[in-house]
Amino acid sequence: MLSTMQDVPLTVARILEHGATVHGASTVATWNGERAVHRSFAEVGARAAQLAHALRDELGVTGDQRVATLMWNNTEHQEAYLAIPSMGAILHTLNLRLPAPQLAFVINHAADHVIIANGSVLPLLVPLLPQLNPTLRHIVVSGEGDRSLLAGFTGGVHDYEELIAGRPTSFPFRHDLDERSAASLCYTSGTTGDPKGVLYSHRSVYLHSMQVISAESFGFTGRTKALPVVPMFHVNAWGIPYAAFMVGTSLLMPDRFLQPKPLATMITAERPTFSGAVPTIWSGLLDELDHGTGYDTSSLTQVVIGGSACPPALMQAFRDRHQIEVIHAWGMTETSPLGSVAHPPAGLTPEGEWPYRLTQGRFPASVQARVIGPDGSAMPHDGVAEGELEVRGPWIAAAYYNGAGNEPDAGGDKFSADGWLRTGDIGTLSADGYLTLTDRAKDVIKSGGEWISSVALENELMAHPDVLEAAVVGVPDEKWGERPLATVVLRPGAEADMAALRDFLGERVARWQLPERWAVTESVPKTSVGKFDKKVIRATYAAGGLDVTELGKQ
Ligand code: ADP
Repeated sequence: MLSTMQDVPLTVARILEHGATVHGASTVATWNGERAVHRSFAEVGARAAQLAHALRDELGVTGDQRVATLMWNNTEHQEAYLAIPSMGAILHTLNLRLPAPQLAFVINHAADHVIIANGSVLPLLVPLLPQLNPTLRHIVVSGEGDRSLLAGFTGGVHDYEELIAGRPTSFPFRHDLDERSAASLCYTSGTTGDPKGVLYSHRSVYLHSMQVISAESFGFTGRTKALPVVPMFHVNAWGIPYAAFMVGTSLLMPDRFLQPKPLATMITAERPTFSGAVPTIWSGLLDELDHGTGYDTSSLTQVVIGGSACPPALMQAFRDRHQIEVIHAWGMTETSPLGSVAHPPAGLTPEGEWPYRLTQGRFPASVQARVIGPDGSAMPHDGVAEGELEVRGPWIAAAYYNGAGNEPDAGGDKFSADGWLRTGDIGTLSADGYLTLTDRAKDVIKSGGEWISSVALENELMAHPDVLEAAVVGVPDEKWGERPLATVVLRPGAEADMAALRDFLGERVARWQLPERWAVTESVPKTSVGKFDKKVIRATYAAGGLDVTELGKQ
């Protein structure tokens, strides 16, 4: 029989209403380069209503039309996050670091009706305009920037503040929507192929937000002040914007000031208790904190690193030198994005906890995980048997968005026959649920029938005091099929040479895993979201663009 319980849809409108009233005194602050400009949740809620009026009454947005944002993390972006899904339209976050052709592709693929853009990123948008479909009718510009750049655009151009000014501060937001209807759309960053659209539902956003606030994840409360460095323009800033409105977590938005110096300055001035970012941001910040003066990061009680494997040396350095405990987390666009979070089990000493902190963590009850071996069978959860991670749950994608009519796109081999998401990540699961990833399937190095984890080699190399960054990729080898190539970025004034680094690595990994090919580079190429771009390194090597030294060839 069915239950006797109320069937109330889980909607973004409910999150907005709750945050703007019950937690109306919490604040969203945006850093302007010198200081933070604060607005209360109540004001943000009122402005979200004004934005919804403007979009509907002035720009004609109806039904489930797509309204895109091309914005940094700031208060206006938060308003768009809340207003657009709550009015029944679909928020499409555009990754402003995508290469131009991919950006044009996703705008056209989503058939965006309106783009809300920060003035500072108009130079990215303007060159795309000739390639965009006429579906795009309006561009709304928020913040400083030269609006005259849009002179050639045939649709409407509006100023955000002028557009919303004077409109009613309440709106008939859609609390009645089918909770399975689409709320927002985010394309993968295409690290391993063309961008694919993941279309989140109101239900998935709501349930994911409850996971984000839970103590075994980010543990948000009304006393938390979160600094999401992870962008709202990709992977929903890890769900922080909605989670914050659920419990009254105040937000400190870094806008475009993502360099180590302003980050350290805003942490010192505004004293956030929580922050989250990819490892490359944290390693830049670490350098600044180590060498700069006058910074105070003592407010940070929880810092989450995810998006790529966190080098253990980075975690250790934050702990030892800045008394900041780093929490490692795993997720992807297709998982809303938060999947697993590495909180150690109870009853351990700090030393006993350490190995658990280095894993990718545990999944919440709502997300099931399994590891599929090369023969297609599920591997035991014994912490040893390796395979591809597959996940299933209410905020995990079941298909991709396939354009205006949206016949779901099954994504080729991205989903198993029984409907689990194939993550493309290789690793193990332990009996008590800890995930340890060894590599991406596309990056693992297949040497003479053995697999070498590129991430394991990078982690060891990045523990060397002279190494700023290290990326390892598999390159073709006549004898072994594939062998590792280590590319290393040295710290200024470093004394170690490649032979010394190879010796250092030789003391830490098996001999047969030691790279023979080494190159010192100026920087590691990064993807649009700051991950090592191994495709580019492999291509540069293939084109003879790396100055490679051979050491101890097998
Ligand atoms: P893409 O880079 O393809 O757009 P996402 O930005 O969604 O994809 O990133 C998802 C991928 O990032 C995961 O499949 C995984 O390979 C990697 N990733 C995320 N978090 C971690 C982590 N903590 N450790 C290792 N890899 C991670």
